[in-house]
Amino acid sequence: MMSRSEALFQRACRVIPGGVNSPVRAFGSVGETPRFIRSANGAYLTDADGVEYLDFVGSWGPMILGHNHPAVREAVQKACEGGLSYGAATEYEVQIAELICSEVPNIEMIRMVNSGTEAVMSAIRAARGYTGRDKIVKFMGCYHGHSDALLVQAGSGVMTAGVPDSAGVPAGCTKDTLSAVYNDLGSVEKLFAEFPEEIAAVIVEPVAANMGVVPPEEGFLQGLRSLCTRYGAVLIFDEVITGFRLGFTGAQGYFGVDADLVTYGKIIGAGMPVGAYGGKREILSLVAPSGPVYQAGTLSGNPVAMQAGMAQLKLLREHPEIYTELNRKGDWFFEELKKALKECSLPYQVNHVGSLGSLFFTGGPVTDYASAKTSDTALFASWFRYMLGKQIYFAPSQFEAIFLSAAHTREELEQVLELGREFLKRI
Ligand SMILES: *Cc1c(COP(=O)(O)O)cnc(C)c1O
Repeated sequence: MMSRSEALFQRACRVIPGGVNSPVRAFGSVGETPRFIRSANGAYLTDADGVEYLDFVGSWGPMILGHNHPAVREAVQKACEGGLSYGAATEYEVQIAELICSEVPNIEMIRMVNSGTEAVMSAIRAARGYTGRDKIVKFMGCYHGHSDALLVQAGSGVMTAGVPDSAGVPAGCTKDTLSAVYNDLGSVEKLFAEFPEEIAAVIVEPVAANMGVVPPEEGFLQGLRSLCTRYGAVLIFDEVITGFRLGFTGAQGYFGVDADLVTYGKIIGAGMPVGAYGGKREILSLVAPSGPVYQAGTLSGNPVAMQAGMAQLKLLREHPEIYTELNRKGDWFFEELKKALKECSLPYQVNHVGSLGSLFFTGGPVTDYASAKTSDTALFASWFRYMLGKQIYFAPSQFEAIFLSAAHTREELEQVLELGREFLKRI
């Protein structure tokens, strides 16, 4: 008999492209049907058939405290009583902006939007408005949302102007997008040497987490900082995943490198649709209505979303031990996974930073997009299906992160390691 998830997926496919509202939710590449989720609590998801899974996706990051955290839920319930949206300024927006500006280095002003995509798109516009330049540098394998100019991975060499990755993106929209190689400062230097006065911004995921997790090598982020300073370009840290995850001050604080602009998403909304971009006052004050860089949003700074985000951020701010414990747990879990690979003499790779990690089914170190792509995705698919069968829910792609949350217990992680050892022994 067909499961409820399967039945729902059939219905969904008739009325929603691919049956899902975001491609990352599809299970096609791992040969499975997506589970339709009914509810979530702590570290667990429950699907439409009532099956409970230990979740390592955490809504792709926002659920750093675990699902359905009482502080967040209660804040939302209370917020709803005040009405859902006003299209006018509120005290909640001031509070969350004050909290972030007072706690995170280099964030002197911040503008709320509705998604990470919007945050990045707007930060790029602000950087271009500020510098009066058009070109931007991004890294192959880094994801910055689905806006036109950023849908470029540019396979063919770092010196070529971007070629769109998606149908429907006019070549004109990506002609100013230059691609460099992650962890390769030389590739960025070359672009600056060729276009010393045309590059408005370098945008980077300070820990790449959309080609699987790829940490920045020693000196890489610092090198980007000096290049941007030397050439008068804006350094944008896309902290949609790392922001409020590596620590309250995100990657800037974790690695001790200053960005000019920072983009947020995911954790900042605690599960509600929120993004934000913030940074130097001299850049942010160019944004409308105080300046000529236009950017707007009917639902931006939505009162319910702000109160949800604020509840989570406040908790994280007031309890720094959450980060200490979470990062320690991450180090332990991913290092144990490495040990398991060694015991089985398998040449696979584990990359991790804090509570983010990936197991790559490839022999060599994974330091950039090219090395990540050498992974055996068929083997990943069988790992994924094995784990799903044991009610462990990993992201359905080799090129996504494993997200740990404060809700995962050592005992649960120990069980996953045990299952991992079993799987690895069989291959
Ligand atoms: C998820 C993500 C985005 C896009 O955010 P959305 O809210 O999905 O639009 C941008 N940058 C990074 C690094 C992300 O992980």
